[in-house]
Amino acid sequence: MARFQRQPGVYALVVKVGNTSKLKIGALGDVEFQRGYYVYAGSAMNGLAARIARHKRKQKRVHWHIDYLLAKAELIEVIKIPTSKRLECKFSQHISGYAESSIPGFGCSDCACSSHLYYFKHHSNIEVLKKSIKSIDKKVYFRDHS
Ligand SMILES: [Zn+2]
Repeated sequence: MARFQRQPGVYALVVKVGNTSKLKIGALGDVEFQRGYYVYAGSAMNGLAARIARHKRKQKRVHWHIDYLLAKAELIEVIKIPTSKRLECKFSQHISGYAESSIPGFGCSDCACSSHLYYFKHHSNIEVLKKSIKSIDKKVYFRDHS
């Protein structure tokens, strides 16, 4: 059980925005979010379970960009990929291939990506993304080559 609790990995959060609105996202400032769905790519090298539990908790100190969004929008789904490799940015780029646009500078303060948060207008495109994640060839995907 304890080992399972500490399983590291990467994850995606699917967040529903009911109405187009402007939200203050920490140091990023005011950001306009469109009605639809946003997918956030993150990693939890110290344990997926604890990190996901934190994202779901309403009472917490806002720390990451995603905390500001989750305070105002609804987390509707979590997609997890258990791995000990640091695939967060690769996973983020995978998601970008299915998205309509991204929020520049969101969730990528510590890496070279332009964003870790992607916009999907229609939920059907989230389903396409999920299928693509399921069909990822893990042997190829998890190999180290950059
Ligand atoms: Zn990145």
